[in-house]
Amino acid sequence: MYDVEKIRSEFPILSRQVNGKPLTYLDNGASAQKPAVVIDAITRVYSEEYANVHRGLHYLSNLATEKYESVRGVIGRFLNAGDEDTIVLNSGTTEGINLVAYSWAMPRFEPGDEIVLSVMEHHANIVPWHFLRERQGAVLKWVETAPDGSLDPQAVIDAIGPKTKLVAVTQCSNVLGTIVDVKAITRGAHAKGVPVLVDGSQGAVHMPVDVQDIGCDFYAITGHKLYGPSGSGAIYIKPERMAEMRPFIGGGDMIKEVTRDTVIYNDPPMKFEAGTPGIVQTIGLGVALEYMMDIGMENIAAHERSLCQYAMERFKGLNWLNIQGHAPDRAAIFSFTMNSAAHAHDISTILDKKGVAVRAGQHCAAPLMDHLGVAATCRASFGLYNTKEEVDTLIDALELAHELFA
Ligand code: PLP
Repeated sequence: MYDVEKIRSEFPILSRQVNGKPLTYLDNGASAQKPAVVIDAITRVYSEEYANVHRGLHYLSNLATEKYESVRGVIGRFLNAGDEDTIVLNSGTTEGINLVAYSWAMPRFEPGDEIVLSVMEHHANIVPWHFLRERQGAVLKWVETAPDGSLDPQAVIDAIGPKTKLVAVTQCSNVLGTIVDVKAITRGAHAKGVPVLVDGSQGAVHMPVDVQDIGCDFYAITGHKLYGPSGSGAIYIKPERMAEMRPFIGGGDMIKEVTRDTVIYNDPPMKFEAGTPGIVQTIGLGVALEYMMDIGMENIAAHERSLCQYAMERFKGLNWLNIQGHAPDRAAIFSFTMNSAAHAHDISTILDKKGVAVRAGQHCAAPLMDHLGVAATCRASFGLYNTKEEVDTLIDALELAHELFA
């Protein structure tokens, strides 16, 4: 049985009050809260086990290195990556996608070569490709979402032409909650000889992920949404693609030998991990992923599915609330506006007075906002510790905002 109350008790922040009300934290799409096991692990490393990694020969350095390096295997298991050397550790998805842009794409893109993107990508999966457009004449080819906010895999595959060098899509929209069939997209893209990058920032939080089953070439995750520390993350890279990549950031750790005139790089994946990494953040991420796997990704997905259904039922009763996106396959991430002229920022301020934390704005997805024809939305995004009672609290707070702005 999914014991949500036990899970809640494991997140210290969830017992605090905000503005004199119990906290209803519905901003998980931006960043998730951390369980005590993660907070304790961070404290333990800094109080008892801390040293730099990979370079010392003393006891603490070896201990820290062992703990840090073991996380590669944990992430490998979490994503079912097979070989843990397919995992490049980093600070999050933004760094992961920039690595692919600089290391893999830049050397192969000629002017006129295309990247196929969906219109609902996060800026982290747009701006690195704009760099390629500005600097090398790459063309960004956009695939629209259907009116219900779903993304037809065939539309993505059909957008691939002879000049397409990469498809880069999210597995789950951070605005609409839409879940994308990245396996079908990968199959179709590979049939045309085109590699696929999947932005797993939201997808990996809400469902079991098997990168070998998806078959994608790159899969990026970000630790702070996975109940781990900010500044942690990783990208899975297929060995064939990793072999094609040149190093991006140069410095210590990513080299075997440096002379005045030459440099010999370390073997992958360390070739792509320069400088002192986020040691403690990464160790914390390992603990967070173990925590999620202990609960079970299928169990988390089922819990969130029932929250999603309940929320959708309750939203139906609010005819002044416009939920953006009704894709049949979706996560419990809801963006909305109200019929009144109330701005998303004002709505979120009212909700905050009731202790309900949501995000308001463009959600780093300006092309999607354009496509939807809205300036901004409020977003309530649920996580593994949220409850149906919190859906009710959200609805009560929305009704209050509606009355105030009507
Ligand atoms: N992609 C998606 C879909 C996201 O939701 C986010 C974060 O909001 C990112 C990428 C960027 O993640 P980070 O800022 O942790 O690098």
